[in-house]
Amino acid sequence: MITRSLDAFKANGQIVIVGASLAGLRGAEALRDEGFGGRLTIIGDEPHAPYDRPPLSKQVLEGWVKADRTKLPHRREIDADWRLGVAATGLDRTKKLVRLGDGTEVPFDRLLITTGVRARQWPNPAEAGLEGVFTVRTCDDAARLQAALAARPRRVLIIGAGYIGSEMASVCRKLGLDVTVAERAAAPLAGALGNVIGAIAAEMQRDAGVDLRTGVSVSALEGDSRGHVCRAHLSDGTRLDVDLVLASLGSIRNVEWLDGARLAAGYWGLGCDAGCRVFDVHGVVTDDIFVAGDVARSPHVLFGYQFLSMEHWDNAVLGAAVAAHNMVCEELDRRAHLLVPTNWSGQFGVNIKSVGVPSFGDEIAFTQGAVTERRFAAAYGRNGRIVGAVTFNQGKWLQHYEALIMRSSPFPPPPAGFDVPADARSVPADFPPRGVGAPDVILTGHDPNERQAELVQPPR
Ligand SMILES: Cc1cc2nc3c(=O)[nH]c(=O)nc-3n(C[C@H](O)[C@H](O)[C@H](O)COP(=O)(O)OP(=O)(O)OC[C@H]3O[C@@H](n4cnc5c(N)ncnc54)[C@H](O)[C@@H]3O)c2cc1C
Repeated sequence: MITRSLDAFKANGQIVIVGASLAGLRGAEALRDEGFGGRLTIIGDEPHAPYDRPPLSKQVLEGWVKADRTKLPHRREIDADWRLGVAATGLDRTKKLVRLGDGTEVPFDRLLITTGVRARQWPNPAEAGLEGVFTVRTCDDAARLQAALAARPRRVLIIGAGYIGSEMASVCRKLGLDVTVAERAAAPLAGALGNVIGAIAAEMQRDAGVDLRTGVSVSALEGDSRGHVCRAHLSDGTRLDVDLVLASLGSIRNVEWLDGARLAAGYWGLGCDAGCRVFDVHGVVTDDIFVAGDVARSPHVLFGYQFLSMEHWDNAVLGAAVAAHNMVCEELDRRAHLLVPTNWSGQFGVNIKSVGVPSFGDEIAFTQGAVTERRFAAAYGRNGRIVGAVTFNQGKWLQHYEALIMRSSPFPPPPAGFDVPADARSVPADFPPRGVGAPDVILTGHDPNERQAELVQPPR
């Protein structure tokens, strides 16, 4: 786009944002900061103004903060046309318009996609529909779950011990509720942090009185005559009497509305370059469609240029800022979204923070503090380079490790000079094996000039 037409676009163009949450709101603010003065439309399928999700599994469930009191502050006036409570159901790339569930269409010059992810439901629909079976992704989910916890169930069952399941288990113990956690892997947080750290997380759960069952899955949920969940069957043959179940089974990317648009969208997310420009189904970059937040998946220089989905708060904020900048700038001014991801969690009185991509590593070394005091830092390495770090009650050190990761420093890193742990040897980080996925995309046609990529409908 030459300067004159860019100026005209910035003054009079039309930008549509689909997804009215953290990345959508921050993207809209950044567009105005960048001088976009044209028409801005924000489409969101939830009826609510953008709100913050991290408190939903923490302060809201504990009952300190009401679920409807987590609205995101607006950092500036954005003068947008908000279309809330209506989903985008289709994208016509030829006519450049977004189709909505109410039958209307919204034209765009440029589009920002921030549709995030949703909670994976318990896979048996009849069992998922029983009273007392929950997931937590939205503020409405959290409000319902909080009310159910306040009614003091006799036993809560949490299926899946990732971050959200573990935070929820911690909340249950704080509320004095009996809770069982069933986790298929060998330890809680194993997928994110590996089994070495998972073993410490397991100890924390058991010390706090959680009935933690690992290496076991839930095979069925049973309802009583009122249609309320009353029992769970575990793969080891155990039966548990429960009256509240939280399925914490990870997330599904909100990309179905893009079916037929021939973009690189599938169960892995929406692929884009490091400047947030969306790839089409062939892996060719588009000019006018951008993506940010949980739904995005982009290559990261520090991690072997692998495509990463970063379902973290700071990725949504910073990715939206980069996307907004690149939507309204000249080609030579484009920026890359080169975030070193960070994540935080509070559970069982411990503040857990991570930086980089621990799961990209295959080794781990404790670098500071004492595991027995649950106050330590550990670094993750791959091929002799540091790729991630985790701290337990040592968040102040995160920036130190972030700097090491950014420089791709040697692993294990040199001891910090004090508070050196008793055993600083590196050992396998022991991440659970990744499942073999179904095929996502295939090539058709024999002649290389006529070859076409075809998306295979992913399991949803
Ligand atoms: C319970 C919980 C706790 C968390 N805790 C932490 C934490 O401690 N630290 C951390 O870093 N991160 C945490 N996260 C993750 C963080 O909240 C997300 O990374 C962040 O919300 C991503 O923002 P987003 O805008 O990309 O996506 P989302 O917040 O998922 O927003 C996407 C929006 O798009 C809407 N949408 C989807 N499809 C359509 C459509 N077709 N048409 C219109 N609208 C659509 C969705 O309904 C949603 O409103 C937590 C998340 C949850 C759920």
